[in-house]
Amino acid sequence: MLYLASGDARRQGMNIYMVGGVVRDLLIGKRVLDLDIVVEGDAIILVRKLASDLGLPFRRHHSFGTATIYFRGHKIDFATARTEHYLNWGDLPKVEPSTLSRDLFRRDFTINAMAISLNEKNYGELIDLYNGLSDLRKGLVRVLHEKSFLEDPTRIFRAIRFERRFSFKIEETTMSLLRQAISNNILRTVNPHRIRNEICLILKEDKPLKYIRRINRLVGFGFMDRGMKIGNFHYRLFKRIDNALQLYYNDFFLHREVCNYVVYLTALLIRLSPKKLFALAEIFGFRKGERVIIFSVKKNINRIKRLNRKDIRPSSIYKILAPLSFESIIFFYAYYPHSYLRNNISYFFHNLAGVSLKIKGRDLKKMGLEPESVYGRVLEKLLWLKLDKGLETRVQELSEAEKIFRELTRQKVR
Ligand code: ATP
Repeated sequence: MLYLASGDARRQGMNIYMVGGVVRDLLIGKRVLDLDIVVEGDAIILVRKLASDLGLPFRRHHSFGTATIYFRGHKIDFATARTEHYLNWGDLPKVEPSTLSRDLFRRDFTINAMAISLNEKNYGELIDLYNGLSDLRKGLVRVLHEKSFLEDPTRIFRAIRFERRFSFKIEETTMSLLRQAISNNILRTVNPHRIRNEICLILKEDKPLKYIRRINRLVGFGFMDRGMKIGNFHYRLFKRIDNALQLYYNDFFLHREVCNYVVYLTALLIRLSPKKLFALAEIFGFRKGERVIIFSVKKNINRIKRLNRKDIRPSSIYKILAPLSFESIIFFYAYYPHSYLRNNISYFFHNLAGVSLKIKGRDLKKMGLEPESVYGRVLEKLLWLKLDKGLETRVQELSEAEKIFRELTRQKVR
């Protein structure tokens, strides 16, 4: 596919390169699944031709000269080489077509500013204009120029992310530029939605505690909410979430992937008042799914304590946990170290969460039960009975459903 792209580019008089984090990952021997390609020329024209050669569809994006082809499970992003001009610090830049060297110069760190030629004349050659390879060998995160953090303050979080992920160091001058930018309150100039994206990327890293500690030490969390303090309470909670997630995937897993990062995000924000949380979710543009989880945790945090009993009925466990997302339940497992509560959550995952009835409303209808308006209630009570008594067969369910129906309708008549 890359050879084909290379040939198509030559025929169109364009130059083509693999760039950015992919090159970094290839050099450190990490497996890469998705590729970033930069073209000196119009990437859309190239992608259109390549997609038609491959007989594949492609997706053109809103942002300047970019398109994606999905090829055998890999995502291949193409972009026209570009230069960026920053009119105001922190704003998104104005963009225009350009050369590879200028495209690389607009990137965040030297280790992310290398390219590999895909041109026939020097296919596979590393293009390292800003000493990225040397920094990669030394384990240094270094910006390309001294205005880097001013142009895009989200790079502060990116620097921390790469530093911690690879156990690198932020290079000395870069570190002093970073500190300067922080002391000039530069994060105030960025659209908070972009900060949310970076924080979520950090929380998606494996075991994000070390990243959060580093942000806390270098930046603090005042950029989220002026009074927001992160400390040992959160650090301990993050560790317990690491364990709870591991347990979930190794032991409880019900073939339902959970969004790990939202569990950590909830932990980060759990001490804020509901009012502040609501404001923050608006300002930072939290996604709907994130809000649902965070708010339901906040709302149920006391109710969950009812699970901390030995002699609780399965249906009672179910009533408390079934309406919650798995992310919320994992959060509570980590948040409350109480053993009965944790056992009951384990019991829910192992024995209750996957239980469903064999019969449906239409089976009640076939039995001639009227009115239909009580079917919902009947099936709900039947499920609780099944959880507590373990009804095995369809026939048992039908017979119990009829009893429940009679009880309910008699109560209604009375
Ligand atoms: P990851 O391994 O987490 O995916 P990545 O380096 O591939 O990290 P992406 O966010 O996918 O990062 O971005 C791809 C490339 O785009 C980066 O390697 C970098 O060259 C460039 N880039 C991304 N974000 C910025 C930014 N804020 N400023 C400058 N360059 C950036």
